Amino acid sequence: PPNHGRNALSFKELQDILIETPKEEKAQEWSKYYTSGPHLAGKNYSQVLWTQERWTEFGIQADITAYDIYINYPLGHRLALYEKNKTKNASESSSLWNVKFEASLEEDVLEEDPTTGLENRIPTFHGYSASGNVTAPYVYVNYGTYQDFEDLIKANISLEGKIAVAKYGGIFRGLKIKRAEELGMVGAVLFTDPGDDGGVTEENGVELYPDGPGRNPSSVQRGSAQFLSVAPGDPTTPGYPSKPGVPREPVEGKIPSIPSIPISYVDAIPILSALNGHGPSPKDFNKYWQKNLGLKYKGVDYNIGPSPDSLVLNLVNEQEYVTTPLWNVIGVINGTLTDEVIVIGNHRDAWIAGGAGDPNSGSAALNEVIRSFGVALAKGWKPLRTIVFASWDGEEYGLIGSTEWVEEYLPWLSGSNVAYVNVDVATVGPSFKASASPLLNKLIYEVTSLVQSPNQTIPGQTVGDLWDGQISTMGSGSDFTAFQDFAGIPSIDLGFGPDPSAPGDTGAAVYQYHSNYDSYHWMNTYGDPGFHYHATVARIWALFTARLAEAPVIPLNASDYATALEGYISQAESKLDSAISGTSTEEEDMEARSRPTVLESKGDLKALKLSFKKLYKAASKFKHAAHHQDAFAAECAEKAGEDIPWWKWFSKIRLFYHIRAVNTKYKYLERQFLYQPGLDSRSWFKHVIFAPGLWTGYAGAVFPGLVEAIEAKEYDNAQKWVGIIEGSIWKAYGSLK
Ligand code: GLU
Ligand code: CA
Ligand code: ZN
Ligand code: ZN
Repeated sequence: PPNHGRNALSFKELQDILIETPKEEKAQEWSKYYTSGPHLAGKNYSQVLWTQERWTEFGIQADITAYDIYINYPLGHRLALYEKNKTKNASESSSLWNVKFEASLEEDVLEEDPTTGLENRIPTFHGYSASGNVTAPYVYVNYGTYQDFEDLIKANISLEGKIAVAKYGGIFRGLKIKRAEELGMVGAVLFTDPGDDGGVTEENGVELYPDGPGRNPSSVQRGSAQFLSVAPGDPTTPGYPSKPGVPREPVEGKIPSIPSIPISYVDAIPILSALNGHGPSPKDFNKYWQKNLGLKYKGVDYNIGPSPDSLVLNLVNEQEYVTTPLWNVIGVINGTLTDEVIVIGNHRDAWIAGGAGDPNSGSAALNEVIRSFGVALAKGWKPLRTIVFASWDGEEYGLIGSTEWVEEYLPWLSGSNVAYVNVDVATVGPSFKASASPLLNKLIYEVTSLVQSPNQTIPGQTVGDLWDGQISTMGSGSDFTAFQDFAGIPSIDLGFGPDPSAPGDTGAAVYQYHSNYDSYHWMNTYGDPGFHYHATVARIWALFTARLAEAPVIPLNASDYATALEGYISQAESKLDSAISGTSTEEEDMEARSRPTVLESKGDLKALKLSFKKLYKAASKFKHAAHHQDAFAAECAEKAGEDIPWWKWFSKIRLFYHIRAVNTKYKYLERQFLYQPGLDSRSWFKHVIFAPGLWTGYAGAVFPGLVEAIEAKEYDNAQKWVGIIEGSIWKAYGSLK
């Protein structure tokens, strides 16, 4: 056998290294480094070099890949409330107006938290927001969902020429600005309502940062304002990599043309309370206007407005748009097999100097994963499959680094990428969360049961023991999107989120999302003191990667996909049934708030309903083939053994060919669900089973083409999608036969 030294480590020995190497103190050191200064997309080159140096030091060869990205940086902003002088004798027109309130647009500098006071800290602003200087009356638009705006139109609230003031929450922020713009509004102000943090304010006794983990009242959620309409990545190069000199497409319709600005609730209070008594109150509207009104304790009545002509907002947003390099750091461990590749990644760019939760808890964990693999390499280990490590840039503006990279290497990834493993926020709390392609379900159950939880209230309990076991479908909002939805590579996203039993509905109050308070000090004091969850994520991530890279038979599971498919079909069918009967669940109601109401239906409903039979039939055949594949795979795995040097099964010619065939089927299974023409209104999205919700952004939609057609009551188009889905299930079936 060739002397690769694979026999220097058994899988058990490798596993022990990957569990024992990640260290709390090291994760803390990496966290401290990454969160010590601003590192916006395209402005983090020293961290790029530092990351490359660390990985090289750990024994992993690392390169930098750069893309030329169209992107904005903040220059200036202002938000002021003007009131017309009531005395009529002012001779100068300028003296007719008084500044009633000038928003600070700044987060408080906290003595105990040094990065909140950095001289070069990043201003509060929106990624891909439009420059502008507008002065106009304003309207409170609730969450700014499609139906919130419809409710306003129905109530005859004039929107044109006004500024929208919207709560964060419910849907992706850019979609709120998009709808405001479509309705002729001239600007948008987005604020964080403490009601949406689960009602956490001083009133109910929760300590606010820095005295406790709760959201600081001056905290501002920065974030991208792009429309999620065409594709993630650079909005000027949908579908192809932003290499220097490539042709660029116009950005109209993809990013806002009206200015927008994010504010804290402290800045929102005077603006909202100036609307008290003006226009309808939430009580005059439906229940969706009456939830989570956290500022009612602060004198805000949440009147809708519009403000009278004598009360106007001046909104100034000044952005510089440039085309400038963004950098991914890409590390590689070459395996014995180069046509089977595992990719794992995390983003490095953050909206703020800190980013201790988002994303640098993940960056710190990634360094520990790589350091651990380095330890194994130093002992003479070489993986069976190639492993690629990625530190992405530009996630925050629109998943840019990962999307451009997938677009560039699509042919290679399509041929060889077995799975992608993403960690964005590794931890902001103790509650394990995963979303994944069903092919990876089994492996994450297995791996979480091998790793001890930092919570040892019952000695010996694992992460798996404390996890509710729920795996969500893949939506969007992080770097797995291009892998899963564009390239058809089975992906998983994992990490620890806030404790759901913490104060408030969601425990979200303990999370300082996209604000200056997502800092090292917050993490070290409240988020993960001792950095135990950081080290735990590193262990889970490393073991998960090692099993994918080392098991002779790739540990994907086709039967879980088949079971999930049947569930998705019946979900879609019940959507159709409720469309027919006009009933819907509370949850469907909420989702429906984000899209237009359709009155007229097109196409034959009965025929559509009948066509579901074909879907069930194809799915049942696929299930049969999937069981067969998994059973044969298990047989091969048994024969190969987990722990023997690879050259032993490589040298058993028959077994070798069986394993290679089984693995090739697993590798290409997810690709069968790609439909090259793509989804109807957004052709970049190629996956017929998973996509981010068209109107919501983050949450995953299953059978997006079909379900969106049902929602639009385009039953003939829905039937077209039944055909496309059926075809892809048969293709998947054929690929396993
Ligand atoms: N994680 C980013 C956010 O939620 C993603 C931005 C995007 O998809 O454009 O803001
Ligand atoms: Ca691109
Ligand atoms: Zn992130
Ligand atoms: Zn983020």
